[in-house]
Amino acid sequence: MADSEFPTGTLMKGKRGLVMGVANKNSIAWGIAQQLHAQGAELAFSYQDEALEKRVRPLVESLGNEPFMVTADVTNDESMDACFAALKEKWGQLDFLVHAIAFAGKDELVGSFTHNTSRLGFQRAMDISAFSFVDAARRASEMMPSKEDGGGAMVSLTYLGSERVVPNYNVMGVAKAALEASTRYIARDLGPQGIRVNAISAGPMRTLAMAGISGGRTLMKTGKDWSMLKEDTTMEGVAGSALYLLSDLGKSCTGEVLHVDAGFHAVGVPDIEE
Ligand code: NAP
Repeated sequence: MADSEFPTGTLMKGKRGLVMGVANKNSIAWGIAQQLHAQGAELAFSYQDEALEKRVRPLVESLGNEPFMVTADVTNDESMDACFAALKEKWGQLDFLVHAIAFAGKDELVGSFTHNTSRLGFQRAMDISAFSFVDAARRASEMMPSKEDGGGAMVSLTYLGSERVVPNYNVMGVAKAALEASTRYIARDLGPQGIRVNAISAGPMRTLAMAGISGGRTLMKTGKDWSMLKEDTTMEGVAGSALYLLSDLGKSCTGEVLHVDAGFHAVGVPDIEE
């Protein structure tokens, strides 16, 4: 998707933020990054390991600025320490954080949640998909300005499988429920510092993470067919919502889980053909 497809402007001018979770050009984090860039934000990107660095660098370079990329494996404290130390050294201050990271084993994203969820699988999904936001939010908040100086904003990515049972989403649904609850608790803690913390509950989108979920194609089709708008969730819609939540447009909005899924979440019964 080209930069020009995202509305340009100055809503994020003068703001610097960390984007976590770009794996390739289809990543939700990449759509959000392009939208924030088109509105003047200065961006740093974290990637899990060297293999990912190779894939992400050309994307980051396509934005035209000097790439600012740092390693951050969210399961590793030293890696997270080094990531935020690099941000502190280069920028000193951070205005926003985008968290678009999740993981669960393929064997756990299929069939029975009750029978297929191991202790280790549960812990890993929770660690990478929920705790990592708590950890990153704490570290980021320590670099954000005071309320008088503008505070900050954070956004994480979640999915309806946290609220409703979605076949095969299993342990990831439980981790997303923890992520959403964490979003509210973090929002309360950081509110007095003027830091707003929200989550976007996006409808199904064709990304690497989605490819790991058994029956993902059916999820996509149902997400469209049952939706109010009768369309797929768009990257522009999700990225635009992130822009709203991370810019001053989103003033007064915190502790919120915003559904961006073409209205799917509010449908009780699909269309009835008589
Ligand atoms: P994606 O492109 O695969 O992004 C997921 C990212 O998480 C990847 O960059 C991945 O890196 C990273 N990650 C996993 N384990 C990590 C670790 N230990 N340390 C650092 N990074 C790690 O897929 P996506 O769909 O855009 O996912 C972004 C977010 O949106 C996720 O939270 C996802 O649950 C959420 N979401 C997705 C959908 C959807 O339908 N696609 C809908 C609602 C919400 P690796 O590639 O190295 O593992």
